[in-house]
Amino acid sequence: MLQVLLSAFPVTVLIAGTALLVDWFAGRRWALTTAIVLLLVWVMQQLLHRERLIRWLNDPERAVPTASGRWDILFSTLYRRDKANRARLHTLQEDLQRMREASQAMPDGTVILATDNSIEWCNHTASRHLGLNPQTDIGMPIANLVRHPEFVRYLLSGEYNQPVSVRMSSQPPLTLQMQIVRFAENRRLLLTRDISQEERLDAVRRDFVANVSHEMKTPLTVVAGFIETLLDALPELGTETALQYLQLANHQATRMRQLVDDLLMLASLESTSTTPHDEQVDVTMLLNSVAEEIRLLSGGNHEIILEVQAGSALIGNHRELHSAFMNLASNAVRYTPKGGHIKLTWQDDVAGGQYCVEDDGIGIAPEHIPRLTERFYRVDRGRSRDTGGTGLGLAIVKHVLERHHATLSVTSTPGNGSCFCVNFPRTQLAAQKMLIANDEFSNA
Ligand code: ADP
Repeated sequence: MLQVLLSAFPVTVLIAGTALLVDWFAGRRWALTTAIVLLLVWVMQQLLHRERLIRWLNDPERAVPTASGRWDILFSTLYRRDKANRARLHTLQEDLQRMREASQAMPDGTVILATDNSIEWCNHTASRHLGLNPQTDIGMPIANLVRHPEFVRYLLSGEYNQPVSVRMSSQPPLTLQMQIVRFAENRRLLLTRDISQEERLDAVRRDFVANVSHEMKTPLTVVAGFIETLLDALPELGTETALQYLQLANHQATRMRQLVDDLLMLASLESTSTTPHDEQVDVTMLLNSVAEEIRLLSGGNHEIILEVQAGSALIGNHRELHSAFMNLASNAVRYTPKGGHIKLTWQDDVAGGQYCVEDDGIGIAPEHIPRLTERFYRVDRGRSRDTGGTGLGLAIVKHVLERHHATLSVTSTPGNGSCFCVNFPRTQLAAQKMLIANDEFSNA
């Protein structure tokens, strides 16, 4: 209030002086007094509005002051501008929040770096990739927290055209692809991507090619060796030895053909995600033919028992199912010594169907069981090769079963034998399909 009076003082003095002059010359005291009072009131009113304006500008959350005349126009204009500004600010805040949420949701890590390489902001993925704490590490130099020499060299080089791959010593170990991108005025974004899975797949691919080459090379060398010997010394060898060599070469060629067949089967299984033809596969007929084939393979060295619950049919691909069932059954023959027993069984109920191959052969130690379906995984490489194995049989079984929504369970005791069981859900059983369809029909 004192401030108001003080700021009004010079104007009041001016008005009072003017009034005294008029009073001196005109001698009309009452008119002068009225003018002075009116002037004073007007001045006080202006000062009051000015004060309210200052107070409102200092605290725009308060209700806009009301006034009349030009002050009202001023207040209304300011109010409208303030409202528009607030709306713009709200939109900007919402946009900023959305951007933050989008950056947080990104599968790649993002770190905003200041000019001195300190961390300004990072999303959750980056904090996980780089082991950063978004609360305490903001403002810290990134090279102090991510000390990998490869990364520090990249950061300090200033050459960011290409990304850099860094193997982090985290748990589990991660391989990150890191790329720095410049933006705005000398600011930088560090982008991190987890490429561990791609690296693993690359390693699997490399191993696979190496394995195939190795598997092919051995029989090819043998075949080439025999052919060379025959070419060089056919007249001296005599028919019997030559025949022996040809038989051995033929054996190796058969091995190669089996390997190529298995590789092609695997490739075709992997290249199509759904079962190509859904047929009704008669289980009794399928298992009879599998049993017949393994009897031939066994050459009378094993007792082969077949127990099939009659009248069952599977929905699936005949060729694939035959290949999977045969692989399991032929393994039983190949890994069961002479005189052993092999039992093939099929049974189904409302829960699903089960195909089991049981043998009393060499068995498998527990540590190998989880890896049996890996391509080229063998417990005993020598025995597998000697019995014509390619190391791909169970990998094929796994793919076929996946495509038929079935699972494989293995129980085995070294020296006592193994049992491989395939479990089909009831939706893969042709008869069950009809039952389900009938159920749905009668419920409708
Ligand atoms: P392979 O052609 O070598 O038999 P598979 O993929 O069919 O390849 O089997 C992988 C490995 O699993 C075999 O090398 C063998 O060591 C083991 N195996 C599979 N079936 C049996 C079985 N019935 N008894 C003992 N070992 C088995």
